[in-house]
Amino acid sequence: MRVIVVGGGAGGTIVANRLSRLLSDNVDRGELEIVVLDKSEYHYYQPGYLFVALGEEEPEHFIRKERELLDENIKFFHGDQGEVVKIMAAENKLQTKDGRIWDYDYIVLALGSIPYLDAIPGLKEGSYSFYTMEDAIKLRDAINDFRSGKVVVGVSSLPYKCPVAQYEILFALHDLFIKEKKDAKFEYFFPLKGTHQHPAVSPVGERWMVEKGIKIISPFNVTRVDPDKKVIYSKENIEIKYDMLIVIPPHISPRVVRDSGLADMWVPTDPYTLKSLKYDNMYLLGDITDIHGVPKAGSVAEYQASVVAKNIASRIKKSGTVYKYDGSAFCFIMHSMDEAGYLYMAYTKPPVISLPSKYAKWMKMLYNELYWGMSAKAEI
Ligand SMILES: Cc1cc2nc3c(=O)[nH]c(=O)nc-3n(C[C@H](O)[C@H](O)[C@H](O)COP(=O)(O)OP(=O)(O)OC[C@H]3O[C@@H](n4cnc5c(N)ncnc54)[C@H](O)[C@@H]3O)c2cc1C
Repeated sequence: MRVIVVGGGAGGTIVANRLSRLLSDNVDRGELEIVVLDKSEYHYYQPGYLFVALGEEEPEHFIRKERELLDENIKFFHGDQGEVVKIMAAENKLQTKDGRIWDYDYIVLALGSIPYLDAIPGLKEGSYSFYTMEDAIKLRDAINDFRSGKVVVGVSSLPYKCPVAQYEILFALHDLFIKEKKDAKFEYFFPLKGTHQHPAVSPVGERWMVEKGIKIISPFNVTRVDPDKKVIYSKENIEIKYDMLIVIPPHISPRVVRDSGLADMWVPTDPYTLKSLKYDNMYLLGDITDIHGVPKAGSVAEYQASVVAKNIASRIKKSGTVYKYDGSAFCFIMHSMDEAGYLYMAYTKPPVISLPSKYAKWMKMLYNELYWGMSAKAEI
């Protein structure tokens, strides 16, 4: 029997390690093979990009070899051997870029989401982002070089991963420039009315912005950016001039999803069992699901990994128990360089954000440190 996990990012790594513990007897007896396939040999801890951009950490701090994170009894393939180009779900097969056809009994899709700056003309040339390590480094250099002027921060379109990342870069940078005595004015735009898509979060973000004197422009749906004139244009016919522009880019699913006919964008998933709505032996977790109202976040992938692993183990062991995800998600939201708020939500619990504190910022940094040894290795 074989379980294949496609994608060895946050969700894929944790689910594979959990499966290997739950089914270690089956693996040891040679009855079960757990395989992780990823196009990359390296695992990037994406929440770290913010701290690279802010100059608080070096890029290497947030990169590890995936092999080192996975239990020894898990097989790992990367590069052309790991990049999945097609999933023939009706036949329980998939194909990797090297041409190999794999059979599976269960498949877990943990493919993530991809920033796609080309969706908006001029965005790549005219703005900064921090949604890849490369872009975070470019933003760090631009922040260092910035002397004075108008900084515009905004969100291009929904959905996007880490739905508070725009707040974090805005508030942290606002504070950093005050500390560095740089003369900066800040403006914020968002595609819906308010500052956030969740009605319970939006007023909190708005209050923090008003307190800091940050101008809010919403709704504002970016149509194009003119890098020469340094102007950003919207569907609402509003133009914003900027000296530095930081935009949360549009997101798409990896191409293999469309090439395999699984979905046009996000893959239909049962919000509780995390099983595909179409294929009985396919489970999904993390950014790739279409689950409404759940953020695309690493904390979500981590909670979901536990449910997916238990459901697959339960079926292999024929225990009959079905485990359910309760919609849990958490995150820390930077309110300045030194303070953060803490947010928790679930299907039946609207988000609540704690007052900003040094303690929560410290917890955020601690979580980053514990990720490699605890979360990714599924030790908690
Ligand atoms: C700047 C930033 C800040 C963030 N901050 C936070 C935060 O504070 N808290 C939080 O909870 N979340 C945060 N996130 C979001 C979090 O990183 C993601 O939601 C999380 O990584 C999703 O996990 P995943 O397993 O679904 O996808 P990923 O971790 O992205 O993993 C997907 C994997 O699939 C692989 N892959 C893709 N296509 C293929 C293919 N065809 N074949 C094989 N492999 C493939 C990729 O190489 C990758 O390794 C942040 C993200 C960013 C960018």
